[in-house]
Amino acid sequence: MEILQRIEYQPARVSGGYTDRILRIDLGARKITIQELPPDFKTKYTGGRGYALRLIWDGTTAETRYDSPENILVMASGPLGNDPGFPGTGKFIVGTISPLTDTFVDSNVGGHFGPILKLAGFDALAVSGISRQEVVVLIDGDASTISIAAAPAYGQEADEGALSYGENLLKVLNGGEFGDCLAAVTAGKGALHARFGIINSLYFDRKRNRIRSKQAGRGGTGTVMRRKGLRAVVVRSGLSKGHGNNPVDREGVRQAGSQLKEVIAKCDPKQFHLAAWGTTGLSEYMDKFHLFPVNNFQYGHSRESPKLFAGVFLDRYFSKNMPDGCYYGCNLACAKGAEGIELTRGPKAEKVVSVDGPEYETVGAVSCMGIFDAHFVMEYSWYCDEYGLDTISTGVTTGFLMECYQRGFLTAADVGYPLEFGNIDAANRLLHEIATDTGFGKVAGQGVARCKNWVARNYARRNGMSAAEALAELSKFGMEVKGLEFSMYITKESLAQQGGYGFALKGPQHDEAWLIFIDQVHKELPTFEHKANALKWFPLIRTWFNAAGLCKLPWIDVRNPEAANTPEPAKNIPTLDLFIRYLNATTGSHKKLQDILDDSERLYILQKLINLRQGKGARANDQIPLRAMGPAFLNEYAARADYYDEWLQKELGNGELPASREERHRLLLEKRREAYQQLCDVVYEKKGFTSAGIPKRETVEKFGLLDEQADKLLKQFGL
Ligand code: SF4
Repeated sequence: MEILQRIEYQPARVSGGYTDRILRIDLGARKITIQELPPDFKTKYTGGRGYALRLIWDGTTAETRYDSPENILVMASGPLGNDPGFPGTGKFIVGTISPLTDTFVDSNVGGHFGPILKLAGFDALAVSGISRQEVVVLIDGDASTISIAAAPAYGQEADEGALSYGENLLKVLNGGEFGDCLAAVTAGKGALHARFGIINSLYFDRKRNRIRSKQAGRGGTGTVMRRKGLRAVVVRSGLSKGHGNNPVDREGVRQAGSQLKEVIAKCDPKQFHLAAWGTTGLSEYMDKFHLFPVNNFQYGHSRESPKLFAGVFLDRYFSKNMPDGCYYGCNLACAKGAEGIELTRGPKAEKVVSVDGPEYETVGAVSCMGIFDAHFVMEYSWYCDEYGLDTISTGVTTGFLMECYQRGFLTAADVGYPLEFGNIDAANRLLHEIATDTGFGKVAGQGVARCKNWVARNYARRNGMSAAEALAELSKFGMEVKGLEFSMYITKESLAQQGGYGFALKGPQHDEAWLIFIDQVHKELPTFEHKANALKWFPLIRTWFNAAGLCKLPWIDVRNPEAANTPEPAKNIPTLDLFIRYLNATTGSHKKLQDILDDSERLYILQKLINLRQGKGARANDQIPLRAMGPAFLNEYAARADYYDEWLQKELGNGELPASREERHRLLLEKRREAYQQLCDVVYEKKGFTSAGIPKRETVEKFGLLDEQADKLLKQFGL
């Protein structure tokens, strides 16, 4: 490997969960710098998302775009990442300015990269600049060196996929065999071309004896990585991962961790079955409650959905009785995988591969295209990972374009072939075109928001109408907010999840407020007030998980039996108490629940300020497509007419319904629009925002965020 730049360093020891160091790499200047953090940095910004937010706030401007040299790609675990004594501690976040939203986005991902980065001496890695040639970064805690090297070419193809490339790299760097002292992040060629490129987090799984992958899927982080000329980052540390955080109170960590592991072992087999089914178990729940996205979110249920239920993946694909934790110590072990899958389509047809997943979101992305074929799900999952494409954005964009075709906005001549719902060959062809930037993939790879504009202009030109008129119609079913595609839940019947998606600072991703289950399945948010309160509380607690370096699933997907005895079981406070004990035992703090909510609120407001600066932070940016609020078109209304009529009748105080279906449909949508606007008013008030969705000056001041930049920004909004 040709070394272009190398420094020697002394890896800092992790103590109480922190190293108090950030590694900064400027690829343009080939400069490697170690930044010592002042003591109050961790107090104010916790770690993970918090660190990424602060670095982006300070290091970028309103003019920064995803491909600007000053854009920063941050990878950071958090103080609680990396302790196998507690479940779910392999997580780290990747944060940057997104190619889809033009504002901050982060994605939470598992694997060993975050923990090993810490063991190699860094709380975060921040990469800026653009390299003229493709490079890899090697952070070697064992050799005490950090290097920028020319990206090696492996195999016969000039540009292998993210999985193959990373596997080769890890094997070569480990002397020809795999080992768990090394981990890597990579992005494939699809990430170079499409705006929704992902970063794969690769790690060695001893039980499967192969390299596995998890994905930082949302918002185009992989696109940023490839545009920087960065093919991969590899971290190495042979230090023991057991008690890798050097906690202040080791016994306290052990006790809290074993109690949570006990809850998981007892409850998961009776609740979500995540250890057995992975997240694919959600398909059946979602379909049963009309929340499963079918044909671009037109319908929430299909007779064909059972072909995509967990049992199918379990019987045909998943390895049986394999505990699949994405990091040591996680007995929820939802990271299912499959071996010996033969590809039947695409450029690698006949190749036999291992597949990591599929996750529920990938299954939903396929039903979103009207496809109910489990083998296609496996192939789609593998190709997206190999190419470096987000399965969600790829599926939602394809589903949107299929609906454009269904409604006559697109023709076969525009696309090059008929793009109907349920057409596997068409979906498959478009996937490969997106990855290779060929054919209609050049349009589709831009994501829903930009596709809407392209289709509107094209359709308007052909039909002698204004593009604005066409765009208004397309915006009813173009499933994006702030430029990010919806993740895979139908929100039409859940006002709480409508807010969960609309207010989500990075765009409609369930990671900020996954309220659909407690609202629609458990029915634990019965009133408007419950929903509005949940939209303040849940995003804050979820923000904390993203800052601390933790997986949320052991908290939100396993209900502690003791929660039933608390006033709000949905918050699962008894399990949260275990997390807080883990925090205090690791760092030596004495925090209570309200303290961590306050810590999170500071980060939440900082993210809101970045959104404002980048032009995505006001009420107008929180508006959701009509389809997210209700049946956008009559065919959707007709598919559940009895349900909608009953709903409307209740809304009208059991008054008489209009005679015509068209009028009932119109009235229903009017009520839904009103409810969403009312929700905006109430939730903004609770969050300390003006009715325009802007944080009030006192809110910013309360969290110590009123620096010169924030002051200037607020003045622009008359505050
Ligand atoms: S619950 Fe699943 S995603 Fe979360 S840490 Fe465990 S294996 Fe990884």
